[in-house]
Amino acid sequence: MAVVARYLELLSRCRGGGDARPIARIQAALVTSGLLRCSAELHDALVRALASSARPHLALPLYAHLHRSGLLPTPHTLPSLLKSLALSPGAPGARRLALAVHAHAVKLGLTGFLLVNNALIRVHASLIGCLPDAHLLLRTSASVDASTFNTLITVHARAGRVADARSLFDEMPAKNVVSWSAMVNGYVQAGDGKEALVVFSRMQAEGVRPEDTVLVGVLAACAQLGALEQGKWVHGYLKANSISITVFLGTALVDMYAKCGEVQLGMEVFEGMKDKNVLAWTTMIKGLAMHGRGSEALILFSQMERSGVNPDDIAFIGALCACTHTGLVDKGKELFNSMVRRYRIKPKIEHYGCMVDLLARNGLLSEAREMVEKMPMKPDALIWGALMAGCRFHKNVEMAEYVIKHWIELEPDKSGAYVLLANIYSASGRHASAREIRHQMREKGVDKTPGCSNVEIRGVIHQFIAGDLSHPRIKDILTKWHEIDIRIRTEEGYVPDKKEALLDIEEEEKEGALSRHSEKLAIAFALISTSDNTPIRIVKNLRVCQDCHHVTKLISKVYRREIIVRDRTRFHLFKDGSCSCKDYW
Ligand code: ZN
Ligand code: ZN
Repeated sequence: MAVVARYLELLSRCRGGGDARPIARIQAALVTSGLLRCSAELHDALVRALASSARPHLALPLYAHLHRSGLLPTPHTLPSLLKSLALSPGAPGARRLALAVHAHAVKLGLTGFLLVNNALIRVHASLIGCLPDAHLLLRTSASVDASTFNTLITVHARAGRVADARSLFDEMPAKNVVSWSAMVNGYVQAGDGKEALVVFSRMQAEGVRPEDTVLVGVLAACAQLGALEQGKWVHGYLKANSISITVFLGTALVDMYAKCGEVQLGMEVFEGMKDKNVLAWTTMIKGLAMHGRGSEALILFSQMERSGVNPDDIAFIGALCACTHTGLVDKGKELFNSMVRRYRIKPKIEHYGCMVDLLARNGLLSEAREMVEKMPMKPDALIWGALMAGCRFHKNVEMAEYVIKHWIELEPDKSGAYVLLANIYSASGRHASAREIRHQMREKGVDKTPGCSNVEIRGVIHQFIAGDLSHPRIKDILTKWHEIDIRIRTEEGYVPDKKEALLDIEEEEKEGALSRHSEKLAIAFALISTSDNTPIRIVKNLRVCQDCHHVTKLISKVYRREIIVRDRTRFHLFKDGSCSCKDYW
């Protein structure tokens, strides 16, 4: 049997190599010599080698061969085979084979082995796509370990069921770094950056050393929340522990700095990165574009092309955004054409969205409308929203009515479209039409997403929701607001702009509600909680309203503070009474 041992040795050297060809050559030799027919161990080794190769599906027919040869699988065969199955979801009969393997495992009494069990749970959750069965296995198995839980946590989080992922996480007996990472990233994917940071601080408290995937998740959470201090802490941690900045970590840092309003620090990280892939370039380009530094973003785009990195569809979104925020209409058209002609990338709805936005902003409303009518896919709410913003800015009521008709058809229960139309009517003196829209909204029970603003004070995120007075320092905040109100009225002649206040409340209450918009509460709180020269950073979930935009400009002048607001689409840097967006947003 020295020959068998020799082949086993050869196969063990093939593992993890990627290339399946040498394995196939050994397999052919084993078939010709008749050795394969006599050895379950050789089947085992072949399956295992193929499972970690670039062509895992080649392992599947071996399982049938094993049975035809009258041999039985070992506890080692099944996990490798199930892994190959999970990696070849497109292979014909993959799911059926997975179920058959499960049946064999039961029949042969192999389900008591931890590795077999874990592999079965994984394949039920991923390939077969039946989470209840995966759970049943988890609950009824004699042997489970952290990796079993980790698999299920990841699958749940990816499916957007973060609460289920959390309950599994909480009941886990011993968590390892993979479990923490799965949970942090799960919250980030669910858009709950705040909870992601809570989980991360618990992880630190328990003395678990973070690895790259957790740190990337934490940086993404900071980017979501605008939590600059915590993001900087991660950067400091990387430096202090001499952790090399991989392309993933670097990209996450660039994104965090850009979204926290410190695009310059992002640029420094970007320049120091050794490897830059298309995602890294795109993140930097988008960051600059968001900050209104469109020309620099476009220079970077050409640099990327020159460095031999081909732009993909996402990179073009970044470049088109840069044109939009800077008003470069011709450059935008040129890029859109080069995407199609030079790179043969088929424009997606997002690219049309950028183009419509670019044209509409610059007053080319008919051209924008033409683009909407000619695009090959059905326009979505973002497209109509972009066209609508142009109508609002350029006061084109006729086109606005055209847009709204289509938009409301698409999203009958969202408030955005109704609010904008009512505002356009009010602004052009058509009060009866505005009232009619408000009436329709109430009739249909259209829901309004409440405005929500985050502000970070000494590393702690404070969240304010419009009209919500539950903050522990609310009394001081309202007193401060009163003072601000008096100062901007007397020093700058401020009069509240009631057009965009909540539409279904009475006129006198409007002024009150307006002063409780979330970013106003957040700014008042930041003013009483920080020292004189500290810039104030706010992250808001909706578009900033006209009144808040105006008020923030006045506060930046009266209180001599830089205020940086990131709203749903862009950054506003308020300084000395004016804003970097030049009042188009
Ligand atoms: Zn507001
Ligand atoms: Zn602005």
